[in-house]
Amino acid sequence: MSEQKIPYKIYLEESEMPKAWYNVRADMKNKPAPLLNPGTHQPMKPEELAPVFCEELIKQELDNDTAYFDIPKEILDYYKTFRPSPLVRAYNLEKKLGTPAKIYYKFEGNNTSGSHKLNSAIAQAYYAKKQGLKGVTTETGAGQWGTALSMACAYFGLDCKVFMVKVSYEQKPFRREVMRTYGADVTPSPSETTQIGKKILAEYPGTTGSLGCAISEAVEVATSTEGYRYVLGSVLNQVLLHQSVIGLETKAALDKYNIKPDIIIGCAGGGSNLGGLVSPFMGEKLRGEADYRIIAVEPSSCPSFTRGKYAYDFCDTGMVCPLAKMYTLGSGFIPAPNHAGGLRYHGMSSILSQLYDDGYMEAVSVPQVKVFEAAEEFARAEGILPAPESSHAIRVAIDEALKCKETGEEKTIVFGLTGTGYFDMVAYEKYHDGKMDDYVPSDEELEKYMSKLPKID
Ligand SMILES: *Cc1c(COP(=O)(O)O)cnc(C)c1O
Repeated sequence: MSEQKIPYKIYLEESEMPKAWYNVRADMKNKPAPLLNPGTHQPMKPEELAPVFCEELIKQELDNDTAYFDIPKEILDYYKTFRPSPLVRAYNLEKKLGTPAKIYYKFEGNNTSGSHKLNSAIAQAYYAKKQGLKGVTTETGAGQWGTALSMACAYFGLDCKVFMVKVSYEQKPFRREVMRTYGADVTPSPSETTQIGKKILAEYPGTTGSLGCAISEAVEVATSTEGYRYVLGSVLNQVLLHQSVIGLETKAALDKYNIKPDIIIGCAGGGSNLGGLVSPFMGEKLRGEADYRIIAVEPSSCPSFTRGKYAYDFCDTGMVCPLAKMYTLGSGFIPAPNHAGGLRYHGMSSILSQLYDDGYMEAVSVPQVKVFEAAEEFARAEGILPAPESSHAIRVAIDEALKCKETGEEKTIVFGLTGTGYFDMVAYEKYHDGKMDDYVPSDEELEKYMSKLPKID
Protein backbone atom coordinates (compact mmCIF):
# COMPACT_ATOMS: atom_id res chain seq x y z
CA MET A 1 0.00 0.00 0.00
CA SER A 2 1.41 3.38 -0.87
CA GLU A 3 2.27 5.73 1.91
CA GLN A 4 -0.23 8.42 0.90
CA LYS A 5 -3.07 6.01 1.61
CA ILE A 6 -2.14 5.81 5.28
CA PRO A 7 -4.34 8.37 7.04
CA TYR A 8 -2.99 10.83 9.54
CA LYS A 9 -4.99 9.10 12.23
CA ILE A 10 -5.84 5.44 11.96
CA TYR A 11 -9.15 4.83 13.70
CA LEU A 12 -10.66 1.39 14.01
CA GLU A 13 -14.38 0.94 13.48
CA GLU A 14 -16.35 0.34 16.66
CA SER A 15 -16.94 -3.21 15.39
CA GLU A 16 -13.17 -3.74 15.12
CA MET A 17 -12.54 -3.02 18.81
CA PRO A 18 -11.11 -5.94 20.81
CA LYS A 19 -13.79 -8.11 22.47
CA ALA A 20 -11.33 -9.88 24.77
CA TRP A 21 -8.25 -8.87 26.77
CA TYR A 22 -5.04 -10.75 26.01
CA ASN A 23 -3.06 -12.28 28.88
CA VAL A 24 0.60 -12.40 27.84
CA ARG A 25 1.40 -14.74 30.75
CA ALA A 26 -0.23 -17.55 28.77
CA ASP A 27 2.66 -17.38 26.28
CA MET A 28 5.47 -16.92 28.81
CA LYS A 29 7.64 -19.99 29.44
CA ASN A 30 8.98 -18.47 32.65
CA LYS A 31 5.88 -17.26 34.43
CA PRO A 32 6.06 -14.19 36.66
CA ALA A 33 6.82 -15.15 40.26
CA PRO A 34 3.76 -15.48 42.52
CA LEU A 35 2.76 -12.93 45.17
CA LEU A 36 3.91 -14.10 48.63
CA ASN A 37 2.28 -13.78 52.00
CA PRO A 38 4.46 -11.27 53.90
CA GLY A 39 4.24 -13.36 57.09
CA THR A 40 4.72 -16.93 55.86
CA HIS A 41 6.50 -16.26 52.54
CA GLN A 42 4.18 -18.80 50.90
CA PRO A 43 2.30 -17.99 47.65
CA MET A 44 -0.85 -16.01 48.39
CA LYS A 45 -4.01 -18.10 48.13
CA PRO A 46 -7.18 -16.59 46.65
CA GLU A 47 -8.87 -16.68 50.06
CA GLU A 48 -6.00 -14.67 51.57
CA LEU A 49 -6.39 -12.02 48.89
CA ALA A 50 -10.19 -11.89 49.20
CA PRO A 51 -10.32 -9.35 52.07
CA VAL A 52 -8.27 -6.93 49.92
CA PHE A 53 -9.30 -7.47 46.29
CA CYS A 54 -12.50 -8.23 44.36
CA GLU A 55 -13.10 -11.93 43.63
CA GLU A 56 -13.13 -11.79 39.84
CA LEU A 57 -10.00 -9.63 39.82
CA ILE A 58 -8.20 -12.15 42.04
CA LYS A 59 -8.95 -14.82 39.44
CA GLN A 60 -7.46 -12.63 36.73
CA GLU A 61 -4.48 -11.81 38.93
CA LEU A 62 -3.57 -15.43 39.55
CA ASP A 63 -4.34 -16.86 36.09
CA ASN A 64 -1.09 -17.56 34.20
CA ASP A 65 -2.67 -19.78 31.55
CA THR A 66 -5.85 -18.35 30.02
CA ALA A 67 -4.80 -16.39 26.92
CA TYR A 68 -8.03 -14.41 26.42
CA PHE A 69 -10.61 -13.03 28.82
CA ASP A 70 -13.88 -11.84 27.29
CA ILE A 71 -14.55 -8.18 28.03
CA PRO A 72 -18.01 -7.98 29.67
CA LYS A 73 -20.59 -6.06 27.64
CA GLU A 74 -21.02 -3.38 30.33
CA ILE A 75 -17.30 -2.57 30.10
CA LEU A 76 -17.33 -2.61 26.28
CA ASP A 77 -20.23 -0.15 26.36
CA TYR A 78 -18.20 2.24 28.47
CA TYR A 79 -15.05 1.69 26.38
CA LYS A 80 -17.10 2.90 23.41
CA THR A 81 -17.44 6.33 25.03
CA PHE A 82 -13.70 6.98 24.60
CA ARG A 83 -12.34 4.13 22.47
CA PRO A 84 -11.05 3.13 19.99
CA SER A 85 -8.21 5.59 20.53
CA PRO A 86 -6.38 6.83 17.46
CA LEU A 87 -3.03 5.56 16.22
CA VAL A 88 -1.45 8.70 14.81
CA ARG A 89 1.34 9.00 12.26
CA ALA A 90 3.60 11.82 13.49
CA TYR A 91 4.20 13.24 10.01
CA ASN A 92 4.94 16.73 11.37
CA LEU A 93 7.43 15.51 13.94
CA GLU A 94 9.18 13.34 11.33
CA LYS A 95 9.48 16.34 9.04
CA LYS A 96 10.83 18.53 11.81
CA LEU A 97 13.41 15.91 12.78
CA GLY A 98 14.31 15.27 9.15
CA THR A 99 14.25 11.56 9.78
CA PRO A 100 13.48 8.76 7.33
CA ALA A 101 11.94 6.88 10.26
CA LYS A 102 8.17 6.50 10.40
CA ILE A 103 6.82 7.42 13.81
CA TYR A 104 3.41 6.40 15.14
CA TYR A 105 1.88 7.08 18.53
CA LYS A 106 -1.10 5.49 20.20
CA PHE A 107 -2.90 8.35 21.95
CA GLU A 108 -4.65 7.47 25.20
CA GLY A 109 -5.27 11.02 26.43
CA ASN A 110 -8.65 11.59 24.76
CA ASN A 111 -10.80 11.17 27.87
CA THR A 112 -11.42 13.41 30.86
CA SER A 113 -9.04 11.50 33.13
CA GLY A 114 -6.42 12.36 30.54
CA SER A 115 -4.69 8.99 30.52
CA HIS A 116 -4.86 5.28 29.74
CA LYS A 117 -5.81 4.53 33.36
CA LEU A 118 -9.53 4.59 32.60
CA ASN A 119 -9.11 1.27 30.69
CA SER A 120 -8.50 -0.58 33.95
CA ALA A 121 -10.52 1.70 36.27
CA ILE A 122 -13.76 0.89 34.47
CA ALA A 123 -12.99 -2.85 34.58
CA GLN A 124 -12.15 -2.83 38.28
CA ALA A 125 -15.20 -0.75 39.20
CA TYR A 126 -17.42 -3.10 37.17
CA TYR A 127 -16.22 -6.22 39.03
CA ALA A 128 -16.59 -4.45 42.40
CA LYS A 129 -20.17 -3.52 41.56
CA LYS A 130 -20.94 -7.01 40.28
CA GLN A 131 -19.75 -8.43 43.60
CA GLY A 132 -22.26 -6.19 45.38
CA LEU A 133 -19.66 -4.03 47.10
CA LYS A 134 -20.43 -0.59 48.45
CA GLY A 135 -17.19 1.07 47.44
CA VAL A 136 -13.46 0.92 46.76
CA THR A 137 -10.35 2.59 48.13
CA THR A 138 -7.17 3.49 46.32
CA GLU A 139 -4.10 5.71 46.24
CA THR A 140 -3.18 8.28 43.65
CA GLY A 141 0.07 10.10 43.03
CA ALA A 142 -0.12 12.63 40.23
CA GLY A 143 -3.89 12.12 40.21
CA GLN A 144 -4.61 10.40 36.90
CA TRP A 145 -5.52 7.09 38.47
CA GLY A 146 -7.70 8.71 41.13
CA THR A 147 -9.50 10.67 38.43
CA ALA A 148 -10.04 7.62 36.25
CA LEU A 149 -11.34 5.60 39.18
CA SER A 150 -13.67 8.43 40.27
CA MET A 151 -15.17 8.50 36.77
CA ALA A 152 -15.60 4.72 36.75
CA CYS A 153 -17.18 4.66 40.22
CA ALA A 154 -19.57 7.47 39.31
CA TYR A 155 -20.66 5.45 36.26
CA PHE A 156 -21.40 2.30 38.26
CA GLY A 157 -22.65 4.06 41.44
CA LEU A 158 -19.86 3.03 43.80
CA ASP A 159 -18.26 4.99 46.67
CA CYS A 160 -14.66 5.94 45.98
CA LYS A 161 -12.13 6.84 48.68
CA VAL A 162 -8.85 8.18 47.33
CA PHE A 163 -5.65 8.69 49.31
CA MET A 164 -3.72 11.29 47.40
CA VAL A 165 0.03 11.75 47.99
CA LYS A 166 0.16 14.96 50.07
CA VAL A 167 2.56 16.86 47.83
CA SER A 168 0.24 16.34 44.84
CA TYR A 169 -2.86 17.12 46.91
CA GLU A 170 -1.36 20.51 47.68
CA GLN A 171 0.23 21.18 44.28
CA LYS A 172 -2.65 19.96 42.15
CA PRO A 173 -5.85 21.35 43.67
CA PHE A 174 -7.63 21.16 40.30
CA ARG A 175 -6.93 17.45 39.98
CA ARG A 176 -8.46 17.02 43.43
CA GLU A 177 -11.56 18.98 42.42
CA VAL A 178 -12.05 16.88 39.28
CA MET A 179 -12.15 13.79 41.50
CA ARG A 180 -14.62 15.43 43.87
CA THR A 181 -16.77 16.43 40.92
CA TYR A 182 -17.11 12.74 40.12
CA GLY A 183 -18.07 12.09 43.74
CA ALA A 184 -14.81 10.78 45.23
CA ASP A 185 -13.72 11.41 48.79
CA VAL A 186 -10.10 12.63 48.65
CA THR A 187 -7.72 12.53 51.66
CA PRO A 188 -4.12 13.78 51.63
CA SER A 189 -1.68 10.99 52.57
CA PRO A 190 -0.17 10.32 55.04
CA SER A 191 -3.21 11.21 57.14
CA GLU A 192 -4.40 10.92 60.72
CA THR A 193 -7.38 8.86 59.55
CA THR A 194 -5.52 5.52 59.56
CA GLN A 195 -3.26 3.65 61.99
CA ILE A 196 -0.48 3.35 59.42
CA GLY A 197 -0.80 7.03 58.48
CA LYS A 198 -0.41 8.06 62.13
CA LYS A 199 2.61 5.78 62.45
CA ILE A 200 4.29 7.19 59.33
CA LEU A 201 3.58 10.77 60.48
CA ALA A 202 5.09 10.04 63.91
CA GLU A 203 8.19 8.55 62.31
CA TYR A 204 8.61 11.16 59.56
CA PRO A 205 6.95 14.40 60.72
CA GLY A 206 6.37 16.83 57.86
CA THR A 207 6.68 14.13 55.17
CA THR A 208 4.98 15.03 51.88
CA GLY A 209 4.06 11.40 51.33
CA SER A 210 4.67 8.77 48.68
CA LEU A 211 2.69 6.24 46.67
CA GLY A 212 3.92 3.52 49.02
CA CYS A 213 2.42 5.33 52.06
CA ALA A 214 -0.86 6.04 50.29
CA ILE A 215 -1.22 2.37 49.29
CA SER A 216 -0.80 1.29 52.92
CA GLU A 217 -3.54 3.68 54.04
CA ALA A 218 -5.94 2.68 51.26
CA VAL A 219 -5.46 -1.03 52.02
CA GLU A 220 -6.05 -0.44 55.73
CA VAL A 221 -9.35 1.33 55.07
CA ALA A 222 -10.50 -1.30 52.57
CA THR A 223 -9.80 -4.21 54.91
CA SER A 224 -11.35 -2.52 57.94
CA THR A 225 -14.53 -1.20 56.29
CA GLU A 226 -17.52 -3.43 55.56
CA GLY A 227 -18.30 -3.72 51.84
CA TYR A 228 -15.07 -2.14 50.59
CA ARG A 229 -12.12 -3.49 48.64
CA TYR A 230 -8.87 -1.97 47.46
CA VAL A 231 -8.04 -1.35 43.80
CA LEU A 232 -4.69 -0.46 42.23
CA GLY A 233 -3.97 1.42 39.01
CA SER A 234 -0.76 -0.23 37.87
CA VAL A 235 1.85 -2.93 38.62
CA LEU A 236 -0.62 -5.82 39.12
CA ASN A 237 -1.12 -8.55 36.49
CA GLN A 238 -4.85 -7.74 36.22
CA VAL A 239 -4.07 -4.13 35.31
CA LEU A 240 -1.73 -5.19 32.50
CA LEU A 241 -4.47 -7.53 31.32
CA HIS A 242 -7.03 -4.70 31.07
CA GLN A 243 -4.49 -2.40 29.44
CA SER A 244 -3.93 -4.95 26.67
CA VAL A 245 -6.74 -3.13 24.81
CA ILE A 246 -4.09 -0.52 23.95
CA GLY A 247 -1.84 -3.06 22.28
CA LEU A 248 -4.66 -5.04 20.64
CA GLU A 249 -6.04 -1.87 19.03
CA THR A 250 -2.56 -0.75 18.00
CA LYS A 251 -1.88 -4.10 16.38
CA ALA A 252 -5.26 -4.16 14.61
CA ALA A 253 -4.68 -0.64 13.26
CA LEU A 254 -1.18 -1.50 12.02
CA ASP A 255 -2.35 -4.78 10.49
CA LYS A 256 -5.12 -2.92 8.66
CA TYR A 257 -2.44 -1.05 6.68
CA ASN A 258 0.12 -3.85 6.64
CA ILE A 259 2.56 -1.90 8.79
CA LYS A 260 5.25 -3.84 10.67
CA PRO A 261 6.84 -1.94 13.56
CA ASP A 262 10.57 -2.36 14.24
CA ILE A 263 10.67 -0.62 17.60
CA ILE A 264 7.95 -0.30 20.26
CA ILE A 265 8.53 2.18 23.06
CA GLY A 266 6.63 2.95 26.25
CA CYS A 267 7.25 4.79 29.48
CA ALA A 268 7.43 2.65 32.59
CA GLY A 269 6.14 3.65 36.02
CA GLY A 270 4.54 0.51 37.36
CA GLY A 271 4.48 -0.98 33.87
CA SER A 272 0.77 -1.00 33.00
CA ASN A 273 0.67 1.09 29.81
CA LEU A 274 3.88 -0.44 28.51
CA GLY A 275 2.69 -3.95 29.36
CA GLY A 276 -0.65 -3.27 27.70
CA LEU A 277 0.86 -1.74 24.59
CA VAL A 278 3.45 -4.45 24.02
CA SER A 279 1.49 -7.55 25.13
CA PRO A 280 0.22 -8.72 21.70
CA PHE A 281 3.61 -7.98 20.11
CA MET A 282 5.41 -9.71 22.95
CA GLY A 283 3.08 -12.68 22.48
CA GLU A 284 4.25 -13.01 18.86
CA LYS A 285 7.83 -12.68 20.01
CA LEU A 286 7.38 -15.34 22.71
CA ARG A 287 5.73 -17.70 20.21
CA GLY A 288 8.57 -17.10 17.74
CA GLU A 289 6.25 -15.58 15.10
CA ALA A 290 7.84 -12.12 14.86
CA ASP A 291 10.57 -10.02 16.39
CA TYR A 292 10.47 -6.46 17.69
CA ARG A 293 12.75 -4.24 19.73
CA ILE A 294 10.76 -3.33 22.82
CA ILE A 295 12.05 -0.47 24.97
CA ALA A 296 10.94 0.57 28.47
CA VAL A 297 11.77 4.16 29.39
CA GLU A 298 12.09 5.28 32.99
CA PRO A 299 13.33 8.44 34.75
CA SER A 300 16.98 8.54 35.86
CA SER A 301 15.73 9.64 39.26
CA CYS A 302 13.65 6.46 39.76
CA PRO A 303 15.49 3.80 37.73
CA SER A 304 13.87 0.48 38.80
CA PHE A 305 14.77 -1.52 35.68
CA THR A 306 18.19 -0.06 34.93
CA ARG A 307 19.61 0.15 38.45
CA GLY A 308 17.23 -1.81 40.66
CA LYS A 309 17.44 -5.42 41.87
CA TYR A 310 15.25 -8.29 40.70
CA ALA A 311 13.99 -9.50 44.06
CA TYR A 312 10.96 -9.98 46.28
CA ASP A 313 9.91 -6.70 47.85
CA PHE A 314 7.01 -5.00 49.53
CA CYS A 315 4.62 -3.08 47.28
CA ASP A 316 4.01 -0.42 49.95
CA THR A 317 5.90 1.52 52.62
CA GLY A 318 3.79 0.16 55.47
CA MET A 319 4.76 -3.42 54.45
CA VAL A 320 1.19 -4.67 54.74
CA CYS A 321 0.77 -5.78 51.11
CA PRO A 322 1.88 -9.11 49.65
CA LEU A 323 5.48 -9.42 48.47
CA ALA A 324 6.03 -9.25 44.71
CA LYS A 325 9.12 -10.34 42.80
CA MET A 326 10.08 -7.41 40.63
CA TYR A 327 12.79 -4.99 39.66
CA THR A 328 12.80 -2.69 42.67
CA LEU A 329 14.70 0.14 44.32
CA GLY A 330 13.42 -0.93 47.75
CA SER A 331 10.03 -0.06 49.25
CA GLY A 332 11.59 2.76 51.31
CA PHE A 333 12.80 4.57 48.19
CA ILE A 334 11.19 7.95 47.45
CA PRO A 335 12.41 9.93 44.43
CA ALA A 336 14.00 13.33 45.13
CA PRO A 337 11.45 16.14 45.73
CA ASN A 338 12.71 18.03 42.67
CA HIS A 339 11.66 15.18 40.42
CA ALA A 340 8.63 16.52 38.53
CA GLY A 341 8.21 13.98 35.78
CA GLY A 342 6.01 11.29 37.34
CA LEU A 343 6.81 7.55 37.15
CA ARG A 344 7.94 7.56 40.75
CA TYR A 345 7.00 4.07 41.98
CA HIS A 346 9.85 2.04 43.52
CA GLY A 347 8.90 -1.27 41.86
CA MET A 348 7.76 -2.65 38.52
CA SER A 349 5.19 -5.11 37.17
CA SER A 350 6.19 -8.74 37.85
CA ILE A 351 5.29 -9.69 34.28
CA LEU A 352 7.56 -7.06 32.73
CA SER A 353 10.28 -7.79 35.29
CA GLN A 354 10.37 -11.44 34.25
CA LEU A 355 10.32 -10.56 30.52
CA TYR A 356 13.12 -8.05 31.02
CA ASP A 357 15.15 -10.52 33.05
CA ASP A 358 14.69 -13.08 30.27
CA GLY A 359 16.00 -10.61 27.69
CA TYR A 360 12.75 -9.99 25.77
CA MET A 361 12.92 -6.24 26.23
CA GLU A 362 15.36 -3.40 26.83
CA ALA A 363 15.24 -0.53 29.29
CA VAL A 364 16.78 2.94 29.29
CA SER A 365 16.62 5.76 31.80
CA VAL A 366 16.43 9.41 30.81
CA PRO A 367 17.02 12.63 32.80
CA GLN A 368 14.03 14.95 33.22
CA VAL A 369 15.34 18.06 31.45
CA LYS A 370 15.82 15.97 28.29
CA VAL A 371 12.30 14.62 28.77
CA PHE A 372 10.78 18.10 28.88
CA GLU A 373 12.83 19.13 25.85
CA ALA A 374 11.25 16.26 23.96
CA ALA A 375 7.79 17.11 25.33
CA GLU A 376 8.04 20.64 24.01
CA GLU A 377 9.40 19.59 20.64
CA PHE A 378 6.52 17.14 20.30
CA ALA A 379 3.90 19.68 21.41
CA ARG A 380 5.10 22.22 18.87
CA ALA A 381 5.06 19.71 16.00
CA GLU A 382 2.00 17.58 16.78
CA GLY A 383 -0.12 19.99 18.82
CA ILE A 384 -0.80 17.66 21.74
CA LEU A 385 0.49 18.78 25.15
CA PRO A 386 1.90 15.53 26.53
CA ALA A 387 2.00 14.31 30.12
CA PRO A 388 5.53 14.31 31.58
CA GLU A 389 5.22 10.54 32.01
CA SER A 390 4.41 10.02 28.33
CA SER A 391 7.25 12.33 27.37
CA HIS A 392 9.78 9.75 28.51
CA ALA A 393 8.62 7.60 25.60
CA ILE A 394 8.68 10.62 23.28
CA ARG A 395 12.31 11.27 24.27
CA VAL A 396 13.44 7.81 23.24
CA ALA A 397 11.25 7.75 20.11
CA ILE A 398 12.93 10.98 18.99
CA ASP A 399 16.38 9.61 19.86
CA GLU A 400 15.73 6.45 17.82
CA ALA A 401 14.39 8.52 14.92
CA LEU A 402 17.53 10.68 15.01
CA LYS A 403 19.67 7.53 14.88
CA CYS A 404 17.78 6.59 11.71
CA LYS A 405 18.65 10.00 10.31
CA GLU A 406 22.33 9.16 10.71
CA THR A 407 22.11 5.67 9.26
CA GLY A 408 19.43 6.40 6.67
CA GLU A 409 17.32 3.49 7.94
CA GLU A 410 13.55 3.77 7.42
CA LYS A 411 12.55 2.13 10.66
CA THR A 412 8.99 2.11 11.90
CA ILE A 413 8.73 3.32 15.48
CA VAL A 414 5.57 3.02 17.58
CA PHE A 415 5.28 4.61 20.98
CA GLY A 416 2.59 4.95 23.63
CA LEU A 417 1.39 8.50 24.24
CA THR A 418 -0.31 7.73 27.53
CA GLY A 419 -1.83 11.09 28.34
CA THR A 420 -2.04 14.85 28.41
CA GLY A 421 -0.19 17.20 30.77
CA TYR A 422 -2.65 20.00 31.57
CA PHE A 423 -2.30 19.39 35.32
CA ASP A 424 1.49 19.39 35.10
CA MET A 425 1.99 23.02 34.20
CA VAL A 426 3.98 23.66 37.38
CA ALA A 427 6.55 21.18 36.07
CA TYR A 428 6.48 22.80 32.62
CA GLU A 429 6.87 26.20 34.30
CA LYS A 430 9.98 24.97 36.14
CA TYR A 431 11.38 23.76 32.84
CA HIS A 432 10.62 27.02 31.02
CA ASP A 433 12.15 29.10 33.82
CA GLY A 434 15.33 27.02 33.73
CA LYS A 435 14.67 25.85 37.29
CA MET A 436 14.48 22.16 36.54
CA ASP A 437 17.50 20.03 37.25
CA ASP A 438 18.47 16.42 36.83
CA TYR A 439 18.82 14.66 40.09
CA VAL A 440 20.35 11.22 39.69
CA PRO A 441 20.65 9.18 42.89
CA SER A 442 24.10 7.86 43.79
CA ASP A 443 24.84 4.14 44.16
CA GLU A 444 25.19 4.60 47.91
CA GLU A 445 21.78 6.22 48.14
CA LEU A 446 20.12 3.41 46.20
CA GLU A 447 21.97 0.77 48.21
CA LYS A 448 20.60 2.26 51.41
CA TYR A 449 17.11 1.04 50.47
CA MET A 450 18.00 -2.02 48.42
CA SER A 451 20.04 -3.40 51.32
CA LYS A 452 16.79 -3.51 53.29
CA LEU A 453 15.00 -5.82 50.84
CA PRO A 454 13.23 -8.65 52.67
CA LYS A 455 15.24 -11.88 52.79
CA ILE A 456 13.35 -14.65 51.02
CA ASP A 457 14.84 -18.15 50.65
C1 LIG B 1 0.15 6.53 35.48
C2 LIG B 1 0.68 7.02 34.22
C3 LIG B 1 1.82 6.45 33.64
C4 LIG B 1 2.66 5.40 34.29
O1 LIG B 1 2.04 4.26 34.76
P1 LIG B 1 2.23 2.83 34.10
O2 LIG B 1 1.49 1.91 34.99
O3 LIG B 1 3.72 2.56 34.08
O4 LIG B 1 1.67 2.90 32.76
C5 LIG B 1 2.23 6.92 32.42
N1 LIG B 1 1.58 7.92 31.79
C6 LIG B 1 0.49 8.49 32.33
C7 LIG B 1 -0.17 9.59 31.58
C8 LIG B 1 0.00 8.05 33.54
O5 LIG B 1 -1.09 8.62 34.05
